[in-house]
Amino acid sequence: MINFSLPISESYEALQAAARERILILDGAMGTMIQTLNMTEEDFTAKGHIHGPGCRHHHSDHPQKGNNDLLVLTQPQAVEDIQLEFALAGADILETNTFSSTTIAQADYGLEDAVHDLNVAGAQGARRAAERAQAIDGKRRYVAGAVGPTNRTASISPDVNDPGYRAVTFDDLRIAYGQQIDGLIEGGADLILIETIFDTLNAKAAIFAAFESFAKVGRRLPIMISGTITDASGRMLSGQTPTAFWHSVRHARPFTVGLNCALGADAMRPHLTELAGVADTFVCAYPNAGLPNAFGAYDETPDQTAALVEVFAKEGLINVAGGCCGTTPDHIRAIAERVAAHPPRKLKELADA
Ligand SMILES: [Zn+2]
Repeated sequence: MINFSLPISESYEALQAAARERILILDGAMGTMIQTLNMTEEDFTAKGHIHGPGCRHHHSDHPQKGNNDLLVLTQPQAVEDIQLEFALAGADILETNTFSSTTIAQADYGLEDAVHDLNVAGAQGARRAAERAQAIDGKRRYVAGAVGPTNRTASISPDVNDPGYRAVTFDDLRIAYGQQIDGLIEGGADLILIETIFDTLNAKAAIFAAFESFAKVGRRLPIMISGTITDASGRMLSGQTPTAFWHSVRHARPFTVGLNCALGADAMRPHLTELAGVADTFVCAYPNAGLPNAFGAYDETPDQTAALVEVFAKEGLINVAGGCCGTTPDHIRAIAERVAAHPPRKLKELADA
């Protein structure tokens, strides 16, 4: 099903050309910005009027406060305005607010039926922000359809007494990711960003689904693949090192491979160095603003995070840089300013020239 004979999209060529010239900038943390708006349950549900772009209504008996992805339907302007802020701060690539917009993740909120609308509206809103930014400063922005790991893992048992048990199968994930990616492409995403990967098997299902979606539309979009390292030994939750992770996803010929979230830029550096040493494609890093404090907030200032990300650039490790949890438009502005002085990492060889 992974078919490289499909023509690549126009945005793919444009992104590859831009990434050869300079370090591209990815945006920051949507969740962090949404938190500052202090929205209530009524805000999250638009007083119960949840509907999609086609005016299809959705109903759930579950509380929705904290279901950030739902805001693309109920508070679309707020989400779009945050994306515009990130774009004007220097982001070339804007993420859709769809990290949890799969039937698997939305089951927690009883909104499985809304996933198509969430992804279409999520991509449309990010596209509007991209166009508004371009109208202001003339720079092209790209919309990255954000695909999260879901809250289930295909290769680890959640039950310590039953190590063979799996809460989700490869095919469950493939189908759920396929629905999501179809919606993201329909809404106008330029690329697919499979991020915060803690289980490579989940990511492989997302990759497989992306190629199934590409076959439906007859063109291949760039894929960005980003793992997360959650422990000090430098392994992902499913036990892989950065080198093993690269060899597990290399068959997808991704536009970028990289790391995001987790322990912050300082702790990410050795793992990023390892990944950049083996990957024969562009490399992307978007760390958190340090480690969370006792209240779950992030204390690194824009200048602190940007100084650490600049080290990645200085050492020739990155082609795309941005921020994950705790990073605001000020963090992205500082990162963009600091990495602009450095050339992008040199490719070993282009996986998809
Ligand atoms: Zn994060």
